[in-house]
Amino acid sequence: MFKDRTAIITGSSSGIGRVTAVAMARQGARILLVSNESIRILEALEEVRQFSPDSQAYEADVTSRACLAEMVRFAGQEFGTIDILVNNAGITKDNLLLRMKESEWDDVLSVNLDSVFFLTQLVLRPMMKARYGRIVNVSSVVGMTGNPGQANYAASKAGLIGFTKSLAREVAPRGITANCVAPGFIQTRMTDALSPTAREAILSQIPLGAIGEAGDVANAILFLASESAHYITGATLHVNGGMYMP
Ligand code: NAD
Repeated sequence: MFKDRTAIITGSSSGIGRVTAVAMARQGARILLVSNESIRILEALEEVRQFSPDSQAYEADVTSRACLAEMVRFAGQEFGTIDILVNNAGITKDNLLLRMKESEWDDVLSVNLDSVFFLTQLVLRPMMKARYGRIVNVSSVVGMTGNPGQANYAASKAGLIGFTKSLAREVAPRGITANCVAPGFIQTRMTDALSPTAREAILSQIPLGAIGEAGDVANAILFLASESAHYITGATLHVNGGMYMP
């Protein structure tokens, strides 16, 4: 499905990003894995290279525009074109709004939203020249529903949806699509910390009766990044077991 295609995937050292990188590599893409975790990213690269030997890893903090610019230069040198960008890196720093520190707000907005502006802007120029591109941004069900203790996270994830729709309108004439995937509760490091009671409460709200797996989200990302999705842009694909139906 992705033969001769190249993809940058942020946050690909673990969870959804890593599973997406492996799945895309299995389908023939060359991947540039990007993360701020030096050891984990090399482990992920080793797995990806089993299917896509020319793939590379780049350690970068996505909040640094300079670092991202360097990374995009590296991707250009290694791969020539960049066909697919998956903005997946994300963090949570939960707190009730009255107690939320400015740093908790800033950190979450900076990783989850500002970085997407930086990196998309950097990758867009070569995509526009090539008149081809697939941009997939990883939002969250929380961006649609809100969640107590997650005003910062919900704002960043809702912001991504508005950003993506505006971008989709701007770049459509150049053969570039931009879409979001909005996962519900997915079993990854991000949700590992949930107490058994919280987990039960969440499960009771999921009609399909199970917490999702990273592969469920990866499947949706792969579809939106594929040629088959050429007529879909500005959309948000919900992968949440039915817990939220827009
Ligand atoms: P994860 O913690 O396993 O992965 C997060 C990834 O982001 C890691 O690779 C980490 O290195 C990277 N990252 C974080 N800060 C970074 C920075 N400053 N610079 C570079 N890389 C950075 O979590 P996950 O569950 O796989 O999350 C992936 C995405 O899915 C996130 O955007 C998250 O908000 C979203 N999401 C997850 C769930 C869920 O239930 N797990 C639900 C909805 C949305």
